[in-house]
Amino acid sequence: MIRKFLTLFTAILTIVLGSNLLAQVSDEWKIIHAGTLLADAREEVRTEQSIIVRNNLIIEVRDGYVEPGQISGTASARVIDLKGQFVMSGLIDSHTHILSQQEPNRREIRVTRSSELSALMGVEYSMRTLRAGFTTIRNVGGSRNAIFALRDAINQGVVMGPRIRASGQGITPTGGHGDGGGFRDDIFPHPHSGVCDGVAECRKAVRTQVKFGADHIKYVATGGVLSMTATGTGQQFTDDEQIALVEAAHAMGRKVAAHAHGKIGMEAALRAGVDSIEHGSYLDAETADLFVATGAYLVPTLIAGHTVERIATERPDFYTPEVRQKALEVGPIMKTALRTAYEKGVKIAFGTDAGVNDHGTNAYEAVLMNEAGMPERAILVSATVNAAELIGITDITGTIEAGKDADIIAASRNPLEDISALLQPSYVMARGVEINLDVPPVDLFPWPNI
Ligand SMILES: [Zn+2]
Repeated sequence: MIRKFLTLFTAILTIVLGSNLLAQVSDEWKIIHAGTLLADAREEVRTEQSIIVRNNLIIEVRDGYVEPGQISGTASARVIDLKGQFVMSGLIDSHTHILSQQEPNRREIRVTRSSELSALMGVEYSMRTLRAGFTTIRNVGGSRNAIFALRDAINQGVVMGPRIRASGQGITPTGGHGDGGGFRDDIFPHPHSGVCDGVAECRKAVRTQVKFGADHIKYVATGGVLSMTATGTGQQFTDDEQIALVEAAHAMGRKVAAHAHGKIGMEAALRAGVDSIEHGSYLDAETADLFVATGAYLVPTLIAGHTVERIATERPDFYTPEVRQKALEVGPIMKTALRTAYEKGVKIAFGTDAGVNDHGTNAYEAVLMNEAGMPERAILVSATVNAAELIGITDITGTIEAGKDADIIAASRNPLEDISALLQPSYVMARGVEINLDVPPVDLFPWPNI
């Protein structure tokens, strides 16, 4: 009898305490004391500011250091002391492949790794990305079921990670970059849902990605460096096919990212109305004018060029001869393309191609952009407000202001003076959750360590 009573009592206590805990979780206040605050990368910094955070949202930004209780509801707020820090909005990477990264046996992995394992590896890669200060990523191509599952798991709070917007399968012509050339035809799954030829098939390929949950569409306008065929980096989809792809996507409210290296293919994509060009390696002054006329963004991915060039130089046996040749050609010219684009006033959104470089090294892109001639402030704009606009999420992130998600990072030095300050964030908060940065990196794959 007593035991029964105790069991019942414990059960009731658990429910009461449990609901209390839930109540606390659903109304948690934090006050961040920011010594230097760049609330909007287009504006001047302000000193001695307080950011009031309730659960996942920014409630208010105030002058001076607000103490708990000064604002109603904040009596039990925890104060986060970033008085000695440079505080800004969480960074956004507009071009990632979060489910994988380069490994020495990449050809074998392509036909042996399950999408379930890819999704689980994506959890670890996501955390590395988040700890590097990137609170949002736009994933552009990867195993469809795996990336949507990872995105949804993060959205539902099942696992922690950066906010993900995902394209699902990248769309490619038969034999094009993304169609997995170089394998025996009974081994490589062909064709996958992103392979299309001709206007009708290309419309269907877009609609198929949307059906399964794509937030945006990614297609390959030209050849690519890491496809295992000697098909170059020129135009692959015809003009007609590109127009069909873009029209089908826009009709369903999805923006379009076009992978493009060669000038002719890139210009065809711009004329077709894409929202962004990824890489843009052979962009020249004429192409830049077309960017400005259409309003498309350039996502430069300098770190991808830097990484493949370095691997091709230092490890001649790592890539197939076809890939190695393309890596050595494309790597060195990408900085020139970015300089031209910046000088001509092309809109630029920060993006790396992470997965080509190791996840968590994303901020090194900023250092390369700076070396290419882009000023620090323009880089910070590209990695916050511009990337948010490209992805279509300016209402929830990109600046620190009331009503937006609490995506907040800090650096111990001022990145407006030295962009390398971004390489090691001293503090990261994503959607109101503080991220533990004191985690030794797990070396899943000790090579290439770029
Ligand atoms: Zn890519």
